Amino acid sequence: MTEKVGFIGLGIMGQGMSANILKAGFPLTVWNRTAGKADALVAAGANLAANPAEVAANSDIIVICVSDTPDVEAVILDQDGVLAGVKPGSVVIDCSTISPIVTRELSRKLSEHDVAMLDAPVSGGSEGAANGTLSIMVGGQADTFERALPILEAMGKTITHVGETGAGQTVKLVNQILVVGNMLAVSEALLLAQAGGVDLEKTIQAVKAGAAGSWMLANRGPQVIRRDWRPGFMIDLQQKDVRLVLDAAAQLGVPVPGTALIHQLYNTLQNQGLGSEGNHALVKALENLAGFIIEPVSDT
Ligand code: NAP
Repeated sequence: MTEKVGFIGLGIMGQGMSANILKAGFPLTVWNRTAGKADALVAAGANLAANPAEVAANSDIIVICVSDTPDVEAVILDQDGVLAGVKPGSVVIDCSTISPIVTRELSRKLSEHDVAMLDAPVSGGSEGAANGTLSIMVGGQADTFERALPILEAMGKTITHVGETGAGQTVKLVNQILVVGNMLAVSEALLLAQAGGVDLEKTIQAVKAGAAGSWMLANRGPQVIRRDWRPGFMIDLQQKDVRLVLDAAAQLGVPVPGTALIHQLYNTLQNQGLGSEGNHALVKALENLAGFIIEPVSDT
């Protein structure tokens, strides 16, 4: 039997993820707070629901991809939220990056209605969402994971069941330490290249396939040297994730001095009103310290 799928949250990530579920042949019902963002999906064949409760009532598996912890709580628990419409035996897959603790509370509340939940945060940027190549780190019961796998496979390429409820969010925090640490290294490296007078395009080309290569360097390095600050992932949301890392580290007694420093650097950019730029604009915090900028490279 083909599962009926619902999708709540059609932002930068949700657009591509939901389109790939539709392409894989699942009947899809969607909802987004700002209604216009559903237009392309509806034109491609998705049903439009009036609210999250209606999505849940029309679906066996409900995928959520909204911004932050209170937003996931709202779309599940509000008066017209998922809980108000969901059928017993359904599965909720939360692909947002949120608190592992709140994830466990939501899972418990859903289980009281015979609804299973997976935390399934993703990595791979807007490109990965559009191309269906996301890495997805999943927490929850093994049988629920098996049932949800065809839908996860429609959205991602590397899908790992990492443990019980909340484990997916914990692994996502690990992921975020690596992402921002990497972006700081890319920023320092490109500033040094600029000051040293070498060609920035050739520098990236020369190092990206060696031991220093990374997704951030390959995908965001070229954006930095073109001064293209359009977001794959906005600074405001990146800061939300860094805050989740710092909270978890404090609870667990883990020193994260590098991540704490990066949090401070992003703060300076938010103070300058740059919160909706991409997370690669971290380089601007170092440019401010350096007193010079990375020169734009033309495409010609
Ligand atoms: P985004 O473009 O800002 O989209 C956020 C989505 O959440 C929008 O659909 C927004 O609706 C919805 N939303 C926010 N608050 C809501 C609320 N209270 N009630 C209902 N809907 C609400 O963000 P995104 O980049 O797609 O990120 C979504 C999630 O994926 C976040 O948890 C983020 O950390 C995670 N993530 C993002 C990336 C990335 O590279 N972008 C990568 C991995 C993981 P409106 O359209 O009405 O604003």
